[in-house]
Amino acid sequence: MCDVVRVTVWNEFLHEKIDPRVAEIYSRGIHNAIADYLRKQPGLEVRTATLEEPEHGLTDDVINTTDVLIWWGHMAHDKVNDQVVDKLQRRIVLEGMGLIALHSAHFSKIFRRLMGTSCNLKWREAGEKERIWVVMPNHPIAEGLGEYFELEHTEMYGEFFDIPPPDELVFISWFEGGEVFRSGCCFYRGLGKIFYFRPGHETLPIYHNPNVLKVIYNAVRWAAPAKGPKPTFGNVKPLEKLK
Ligand code: ZN
Repeated sequence: MCDVVRVTVWNEFLHEKIDPRVAEIYSRGIHNAIADYLRKQPGLEVRTATLEEPEHGLTDDVINTTDVLIWWGHMAHDKVNDQVVDKLQRRIVLEGMGLIALHSAHFSKIFRRLMGTSCNLKWREAGEKERIWVVMPNHPIAEGLGEYFELEHTEMYGEFFDIPPPDELVFISWFEGGEVFRSGCCFYRGLGKIFYFRPGHETLPIYHNPNVLKVIYNAVRWAAPAKGPKPTFGNVKPLEKLK
């Protein structure tokens, strides 16, 4: 038996308002496309938050009652308030909130803060094919997938991807143009679990793809806080009598 996992899907929600191509694919925003799918899955309580809400929709109450935060950002990473980033970092590292960073969230403030590297990469927008290989078949995030799945038209992200070596690497992508990319990366930071998942891009219907959505659901379950012991720090008395 599993407790309910409280998920917040965050989206900067700007592309959808200014680019009709994006609005056509995600009429109620990328956050709602993902949230609508997750609401149909068992054991989740799902809400959304967006950049232009007060405190970006991430008030103390929302942060403190979120088990897993899903993050989409692309054109407005710099508009995210540093104090909110500080709070998210604390909640992840010290309290174990999970973070799922999607696609262009490789450049989000919170992801870069947690990685400590530039998180830069190569990219090309040519609508080419991507084949996403499962390289850790026993990982819970790969549950229910085939050996690989394909996206017919994607934006390419290529190596070198400037991240610390992931603690677990679940997916590697191959692109029609020849590049490869570490597409599904797990990191542990303090008590928190972080999953970076590459597929996305606002002008393509990536978040309507059943395999992509399944991975996001699996990642939510994986990244949810573990119910382990609360660590104690500092000076302690010995458990046994010392000789
Ligand atoms: Zn993109």
